[in-house]
Amino acid sequence: DSIANQIAAGEVVQRPASVVKELLENSIDAGGTQIKLVVKDAGRTLIQVIDDGKGMSVTDARMSFERHATSKIRTAEDLFKIRTMGFRGEALASIAAVAQVEMRTKRREDELGTILQVESSEIKKQEPLATKDGTSISVKNLFYNVPARRNFLKSNPVELRHITDEFHRVALANPEVAMSMTNNDLEMYQLEAGKLSKRIVQLFGKNYQQQLIPCDEETPHVKVTGYVGKPEFAKKTRGEQFFFVNGRYIRNNYLNHAVSTAFQGLLKEDYFPFYVLFVEMDPLHVDINVHPTKTEVKFDDDRMLYGVINSAVRQSLGSFNV
Ligand code: ADP
Ligand code: MG
Repeated sequence: DSIANQIAAGEVVQRPASVVKELLENSIDAGGTQIKLVVKDAGRTLIQVIDDGKGMSVTDARMSFERHATSKIRTAEDLFKIRTMGFRGEALASIAAVAQVEMRTKRREDELGTILQVESSEIKKQEPLATKDGTSISVKNLFYNVPARRNFLKSNPVELRHITDEFHRVALANPEVAMSMTNNDLEMYQLEAGKLSKRIVQLFGKNYQQQLIPCDEETPHVKVTGYVGKPEFAKKTRGEQFFFVNGRYIRNNYLNHAVSTAFQGLLKEDYFPFYVLFVEMDPLHVDINVHPTKTEVKFDDDRMLYGVINSAVRQSLGSFNV
């Protein structure tokens, strides 16, 4: 019911950026190659994500707003080898509990698509619609029915900052996907599909081009790839440090430490290196089920991982003679 959905929503949807994260990840899971994010008023009045992914059938479109409706996990065993971003089947249900949602979707193989409007978890409209392949989801007036949540939001610049943070993470993890973002009709990013180094430069600026040291290391259990910034490029803020595990952005102080100790002696005090590092490992040895927003994960053997990352970064710094 809608109260249970609203309570569940509290965990998944904390602010506009949470909606952005969930919608972008769904578009990635759907195999989108072009993803557009449209935001108005830092996400307060509109968050729209348009993709050219596989779309949904009428039934799937309707089902997608049911809690625990996920098309991504079918057996208990699947839970241990998750490769998709989503798997809980809570995001759309949670979002639709606290906003006005309109979905347009069409599968390539269908003649007609579907338009669906959901408000406070209630389906207000469902009709066939001639629309293009893929999915567009608009989330309007977030928290319109939860004033306490709405009042808790920070200023527009702060909320927008959280949104661009999420956009950065998805964009870095998926450089092969073309992505764009506008806020109040102003283009903020227009990212072509390409290599990771190009994506970093398009996101953060031309001056990053000469600062990236590639990082590559493979052991029987773990593969580490990506870039670290040259030591002289380090900044006084911690903001630009990215870890991805099996394509998923994670926060982990222990692993941050593995990188910063590799830089030891090369950095001025209180300076933080830039890095974008990808860890690939058997999903069996990562538990991503510990937090609803999935940014915290648990590793079977985090010491081993620490060692691999530390040595990967040391090696790449060494090979550049810095
Ligand atoms: P989850 O991603 O955990 O499965 P969500 O609530 O985010 O749960 O989405 C529910 C379901 O709706 C997904 O499993 C998927 O089948 C469908 N879905 C959501 N967004 C899209 C999209 N952009 N394209 C295709 N299918 C989608
Ligand atoms: Mg999802």
